Amino acid sequence: MKFYVMTLFPQMIMEGLNTSMIGRALESEKISLEAVDIRQFSENKHKKVDDYPYGGGPGMVMQAQPIYEAYSSIKNKIGKKPRVVYLTPWGNVFRQEMAEDFAKEEELVFLCGHYEGVDERVLEEIVTDYVSIGDYVLTGGELASMVMIDSIARLIPGVLNNDDSATYESFHHNLLEHPQYSRPKEWRGREVPEVLLSGHHQKIEDWKLEQSLLRTMEYRPDLLENCLLTDKERDRLNKNQNIKKKCRKILAKNDEM
Ligand code: SAM
Repeated sequence: MKFYVMTLFPQMIMEGLNTSMIGRALESEKISLEAVDIRQFSENKHKKVDDYPYGGGPGMVMQAQPIYEAYSSIKNKIGKKPRVVYLTPWGNVFRQEMAEDFAKEEELVFLCGHYEGVDERVLEEIVTDYVSIGDYVLTGGELASMVMIDSIARLIPGVLNNDDSATYESFHHNLLEHPQYSRPKEWRGREVPEVLLSGHHQKIEDWKLEQSLLRTMEYRPDLLENCLLTDKERDRLNKNQNIKKKCRKILAKNDEM
C-alpha cells in the first residue's frame, strides 16, 4: 500500500509515522509513505496557499489551485485516479469497517485541511471520501490522517508481527476486546483470573467471549445493535449457563437476526 498525504506540514507526517511498527513497515517496504507539500505547488510568488473567504467570516480558506496541482502530480505518478480522502469534521466518522475497506486499496491519498478549511470546488473535483475522526475540531487534518494511516496500515499483511493480532481485537464482530493480563500472576494483591492459568482451551475461549460481551455492554452498548456472533460463538454461549444468563439480551437479538 502506498500512502500519499497532501499537507502544508510534511515534516509532521513523516516524523509522526516513522516510529514503532509503522516505522518498521516503512523500513521493510511493506508500505510506503510520501508527504506531498501543497505549498510547493502554489503559483503565487510568495508561495501563498490561502485567502479570505468569499462572503466574509473568520479565518482563511485553502485555495484550490495548489491542492489541485499537488493532486495531479500524485495522479500522474500513480497513472490513474486514486481514492482521495479529505479529513474533515463533517465527514463520515471513521470506523474499523472503513479501515478494512481502505486497506484493500493499492494507493490512498489524504488531503489535510488547515485554517477554516478548503475551497469547496477542489473538493468536488478530486475527493472520493469525506472522513472525520470524531466529533471535535482539530487545527488541521494531519493528526487525523496519521490516525487513519496507522489503523489501515496495521491491517496490511506483514505489518504487525502477528497478523492474528488484527483479527482478534476490539471491533471484530462489533465487540470490544476482553481484558488482557501478563506476568506476574499477582500484582499489588490483584490476581490474574484463574481460568487463564488453567490451560483449558475451551474454558479460556468461553471466558474471553463472555468478557468481550460484558465489556461491550458496559462501555459501548451501541455496538451490540450490530453485533453478529458466529455460529460457533453462539453455540458456546448457549452451552454455558452462567454466560447465557448474563448475555440473554444479546443472544435473543442474535436469534432474531
Ligand atoms: N471550519 C471547519 C469546520 O467547521 O468544519 C473546521 C476547520 S479545522 C479548524 C481545519 C482542518 O482540520 C479541517 O479542514 C480538517 O482537515 C481538519 N480537521 C479538524 N477536525 C477534524 C476531525 N474531527 N476529523 C478530521 N479532520 C479534522
